[in-house]
Amino acid sequence: MSKSSPVDCCSGHTSGLLGVQEARTRMLAAVSPVGGVEQLTLRDALDRILAEDVVSGLDVPPFANSAMDGYAVRSADCADTAGVELTVVGSSFAGSPYGGEVGTGQAVRIMTGAVMPDGADAVVMQERVERDGDRVRFDGGSVKQGLNVRYAGEDLKTGDTVLEAGKRLAAADLGLLASLGIGEVRVKRRLRVAFFSTGDELRGVGEALEKGQIYDSNRYILHGLLNQAGIDLIDMGVIPDDRQAVRDAFQQASAMADALVTSGGVSVGEADFVKETLDELGQVDFWKIAIKPGKPLAFGTINDAVFFGLPGNPVSVMATFYQFARPALRKMMGETPGEPLVMRVPCTETLRKAPGRMEFQRGRLARDERGQWVVHSTGLQGSHVLSSMSRANCFILLAAESSGVEAGGLVEVQPFCGL
Ligand code: AMP
Ligand code: MG
Repeated sequence: MSKSSPVDCCSGHTSGLLGVQEARTRMLAAVSPVGGVEQLTLRDALDRILAEDVVSGLDVPPFANSAMDGYAVRSADCADTAGVELTVVGSSFAGSPYGGEVGTGQAVRIMTGAVMPDGADAVVMQERVERDGDRVRFDGGSVKQGLNVRYAGEDLKTGDTVLEAGKRLAAADLGLLASLGIGEVRVKRRLRVAFFSTGDELRGVGEALEKGQIYDSNRYILHGLLNQAGIDLIDMGVIPDDRQAVRDAFQQASAMADALVTSGGVSVGEADFVKETLDELGQVDFWKIAIKPGKPLAFGTINDAVFFGLPGNPVSVMATFYQFARPALRKMMGETPGEPLVMRVPCTETLRKAPGRMEFQRGRLARDERGQWVVHSTGLQGSHVLSSMSRANCFILLAAESSGVEAGGLVEVQPFCGL
């Protein structure tokens, strides 16, 4: 397995290649959050990035209340393990509190979420109680102070920072904000990203293919990936391999957008004018990253826009977008970065790789016949094979120095849903 390949010239080390983590760190360090904030109502704020900390102006719950349907009692009345008998003097329903006080020997019928009446300090669940007219009987002993009571401020306290700037607002967060009576939040403005494909061989769907031509799939991939990230898109189409056309596209895109994502044209052997144009318009580095797929990648700035020049092969576009562009774009959006979800599971097939580059193979996580999670390879792993990407629901991570894994061996996987 460790035979050196002519391209990688690697025997277990990444000579001349930038490590994946190092590349990600450098990119993250090079970008900063964009300015611009807007105020949105809660429903519109789903999936947006909070621009400032949210501090609670209330205790939640705002009052002590019952966690059960049952009877509010004084725990001091309930010490007798032989049996306790109390008189029901009223009721407290959610939204209709009991007005009086619970005295010695008394209980109040209470429902979940209803205010704990004064004097009571515990709730006996109704299933434990025998009721006879206005009398209730139950076994005492285990009825301690605080039983089945939710205290004021148990969830959130006045003055607590309940959500921090940089949080992507999820459904639970909208509910949390509503529980504080907050109807509008300040969020970062959406990021604007322009993208285009490059290549004389590319045709749009709907056009007829002549010999040597293929359909442009990358723009559809990027449309999906950028949309999923909550980004405003500017689709600039296919740009032919022509000096002026490429130059114009870079100029226009960088004037309109915070960032520019292209595919193709960054590999060795591509026309030199791409590099010349980028040198002229901005500061772009051509990287060779120890990753497979997706080794060549251009990154830098064009005018004021951040530029991600992804490779041309569709699977490389996806791998480099997920591993590099997306974390950087999320930082630009103002989002506090999180770790992608990684699981260790047995791999059902033997996977081979040459040491040297970290591989992101395409896999399908599923349960085996015993109900255990395992990962299957989705087949051909060429960077042009979109069908195996489409079947996949995760990347199988194989470290740079690894030479693969035997069937049944443990591998790390990154589910797409956790990226
Ligand atoms: P390049 O990096 O431009 O040399 O492209 C590498 C490979 O990816 C070539 O086989 C291209 O035809 C292919 N490719 C480039 N762009 C696209 C695209 N938008 N859709 C599908 N394949 C592409
Ligand atoms: Mg090309």
